Amino acid sequence: MNKAFCKEPDSTEPALCPACGREGLAVAVETIRAHVTVESAESLGEPAFFCTTDTCTVAYFDLLERSITTAAARDLFWPKDPAGPLCNCHGLSLDDVDADIAEGVPTRLREVVRRAAEPGAACAVRTADGRPCVARVQKYFLRRRADLGG
Ligand SMILES: [Zn+2]
Repeated sequence: MNKAFCKEPDSTEPALCPACGREGLAVAVETIRAHVTVESAESLGEPAFFCTTDTCTVAYFDLLERSITTAAARDLFWPKDPAGPLCNCHGLSLDDVDADIAEGVPTRLREVVRRAAEPGAACAVRTADGRPCVARVQKYFLRRRADLGG
């Protein structure tokens, strides 16, 4: 087959989101299947990627620039879904973080960190980018606490 007409996925080439142009995170098929319909999941080739740009309307895409929008995906985390939780695995919300900061003890945050480290934690499937949510949640907590002057 003529290579010019068959754009083969090349793992050395950065996977750029067709909408915002930023590099995506490679995600497993199981992760994508947990967040979109079967038909949508089958519309993407492998490898497939998650777009990490907060405001981008693309959730998943592949190297042939086929994409699934955030509107067609479900259970995305904030801010990809402005109404979504911070952590889909354990349901930690923005309000929980505010409550932790108000109380001066990050009880809820610590619980998420503890549970994420347990065997069988389902982050890889439940989190839209297939990564444990701990780093993202902690980053948000520190930023939010600084914003609130805590
Ligand atoms: Zn994007």
